[in-house]
Amino acid sequence: MTLSRFDLFSPERLDEAVALLKEKGKDTFVMAGGTDLLIKRRHQVIHPRTIVSLKKISGLNRISFRSGKGLTIGATALLGDVARHRTVLRIYPAIAKAAGNTANVQIRNMGTVVGNLCNASPAADNAPALLAMNAALNIVGPQGKRVLPLEDFFLGPGFTALQPAEIVTSVFVPMPLSGSGATYLHLSARGRIDCSAASTGVALTLKGPRIDKLRIFIGACGPTPLRMPKTEKILINQKLTKTLAVRAGLQASKESKPISDVRANEDYRSKMVAVLVRRAILEANKLARDNK
Ligand SMILES: Cc1cc2nc3c(=O)[nH]c(=O)nc-3n(C[C@H](O)[C@H](O)[C@H](O)COP(=O)(O)OP(=O)(O)OC[C@H]3O[C@@H](n4cnc5c(N)ncnc54)[C@H](O)[C@@H]3O)c2cc1C
Repeated sequence: MTLSRFDLFSPERLDEAVALLKEKGKDTFVMAGGTDLLIKRRHQVIHPRTIVSLKKISGLNRISFRSGKGLTIGATALLGDVARHRTVLRIYPAIAKAAGNTANVQIRNMGTVVGNLCNASPAADNAPALLAMNAALNIVGPQGKRVLPLEDFFLGPGFTALQPAEIVTSVFVPMPLSGSGATYLHLSARGRIDCSAASTGVALTLKGPRIDKLRIFIGACGPTPLRMPKTEKILINQKLTKTLAVRAGLQASKESKPISDVRANEDYRSKMVAVLVRRAILEANKLARDNK
């Protein structure tokens, strides 16, 4: 097997990176940790002629939090750094859990949360919790800067709403309101070293005993991470009971669009969506009660 050669650029400024992406054009790829990109090259899924690494751009690895505003995770912040970041663990435990449950320790010390999103795998472990928490992406490109809700980012397996020569500089997550709780749950056939066969991210806010705001997403059970509007409708303005959580789980199973592949078959995935969503809603509701 002969792999094509590529030129590697490691610019120190974002504008240089964008200019390079624009100048080199076709078969030019952005690289953060390379844990997806270089494997795709090895398997000849892609044939890069140019790779633009983001690693030397200062500030892109920052994880910062502003009280009253939210959390910003830079494009080269490692999965491992997000998973063990004290503020992320305290205020955004679902996001820390998703990052800490992605792959193994070696990959978490190379790969990034933003790379996980940009790879656009339907099973990306970091997507459901970030989507549930209403995250948005900061993007820079030849036309300047823009902000895109993460919900509008995923177009299909491996496809995103990024335009040519655009780079995601960070993902922003608003600060949770008081009385909020968020969870991430997932299942994979071989535990930690495998991508998820089914996953869910749930974020809710209580008003008194009732669910006032709610976002439910599932992963690995559709061409992109999917929002579950009919399931949300069952729960909104309701006081959560176990019976209601079971009903919601079954509805999520109906709304999911799983396929059979190497990780799990369609029937198993569909049944597991019901279990994961039921458990995640109950867990998020408990966290929300504790956060009042
Ligand atoms: C052994 C192994 C186990 C794994 N297990 C899991 C798992 O359990 N769960 C899981 O979800 N994933 C898993 N992965 C996949 C991978 O490790 C993650 O998706 C990782 O987070 C990718 O991050 P990265 O920084 O390495 O991305 P890269 O490989 O650098 O990039 C991935 C893609 O995103 C693009 N990209 C990266 N950053 C940007 C940016 N800032 N702007 C625009 N485009 C960008 C690249 O061009 C590329 O197409 C696994 C991979 C391996 C090799």
